[in-house]
Amino acid sequence: AHEASSGRDAGAVSLRGVSKSFGAVAAVRDLDLDVRAGEFLSMLGPSGSGKTTVLRMIAGFEDATEGTISLGGVDVTRVPPHARQVNTVFQDYALFPHLTIEENVGYGLRVRGERRAARRERVVTALEQVRLAHVASRLPHQLSGGQRQRIALARALILRPQVLLLDEPLGALDKQLREQMQIELKQIQREVGITFVFVTHDQEEALTLSDRVAVFNGGRIEQIGTPREVYELPRTEFVARFLGLSNVLPPDVAERVAGSRAALSVRPERVRIVSPGEHSHPGETTLAGTVAEIVYTGPTTRYLVDVEEGLQIIAERPNAHHPAATESLARGTEVRVAWQADHAARLP
Ligand code: ATP
Repeated sequence: AHEASSGRDAGAVSLRGVSKSFGAVAAVRDLDLDVRAGEFLSMLGPSGSGKTTVLRMIAGFEDATEGTISLGGVDVTRVPPHARQVNTVFQDYALFPHLTIEENVGYGLRVRGERRAARRERVVTALEQVRLAHVASRLPHQLSGGQRQRIALARALILRPQVLLLDEPLGALDKQLREQMQIELKQIQREVGITFVFVTHDQEEALTLSDRVAVFNGGRIEQIGTPREVYELPRTEFVARFLGLSNVLPPDVAERVAGSRAALSVRPERVRIVSPGEHSHPGETTLAGTVAEIVYTGPTTRYLVDVEEGLQIIAERPNAHHPAATESLARGTEVRVAWQADHAARLP
C-alpha cells in the first residue's frame, strides 16, 4: 500500500469525516474539507453554523469528536496546538499595550529564543509586508484600528506558519476601513504565499477575498467553490439566499414558466425589466407583473415586481447604464421581468 497523501503535493489542510459535539449540540457534522497550499479559503455561514469550531479544531484548541485532521499531509489530530505549524489571528488583536510595535511583532520570536539581530531583521520584513515599517517605535494606542489589525497580522506572519487561521479579523472595523483592509489582506496573502483560512459571516467579504468559499449551514458545508461558482451557480436554496439577494422560483412556478423540474434561482442583476410595448429577447424566460417598489441604492436601483403567483421578483439595474429610461417606471406600472434561461441556477 502506498501513502494516500504526503509531502508537497498534499493539501495544506485536510479534514476527513470530522465531527464535533458539545454535549447534545452537534456543532460540526461529518465534514470533509481540503484546503490547497497557498490558497485563500473562506468559511462563510450564519452564526452557529460551525465555522469557528472548525477553525479551532485546525488550530488544535478543540479536539475533534470524530475524524482526522492533517496539515501538509501529516496527521495532527492528536498533536497539541503549539506543535502545529499554524497561527491564529483573532478579531480582538490583543497587542501588549506597554510594548512598542516592534516588540509586539517580535514577541513570538523572543519566546522562541531567537537572537536580537535576527529578530530585528525579521520584524522589519514582517512590518514591511503589512506596509507599516514606519510605526515600529510607536505604542499600540498610537495606531488606528486598521493599523492594529495589520500589526496583529505581522505578529502571526513573522512565525512563518504553513497556515494562517483568521477568525473574523476585520469584524471590529467600520465598513469603509473594512473594505480597504479586505483588499490589502488579499494583496498581503498573495505576496507572502501562506495558506489563509478565513472565517466570516459577511458574504461580500468572502466573495471579495477568497480563492474559494465554503458555505456552512448547520455544521455542514452546503457548497464549496470559487466566489463566481457559489454566487452564480448556487446548488441549494440556502446558498442562493445566503450569498446576497436572490429570486427563488419554487418548482411549480419554475416548471410552468421555464419547464424546469427543479426550483430556480436568479440573481436580481440578471433580471431585466421589459417595459410596456418592448419585446422580450430570444432565450428569455418572462413573467408578467406590477412594479411594487422602487429602491435607490446609489450604484443601482432595485425594482420589486409582484408577479402573478403572489411572488415578488427583484430586478437590479446599475444606474450608470440606465439613466433616464427606467426612471420613468412608476409604482403600479405593468411590466414583464425577463432573464436569459442560462442565468437561472437549478436548485435540486
Ligand atoms: P459565529 O459566527 O457566531 O462565531 P460559528 O459559525 O463560528 O458562529 P460555532 O462558534 O462554531 O459557530 O458554533 C457552532 C455550534 O456549537 C453553536 O451551536 C454553538 O453554540 C456551539 N458551541 C460552540 N462552542 C461551544 C462550547 N465551547 N460549548 C458548547 N457549545 C459550543
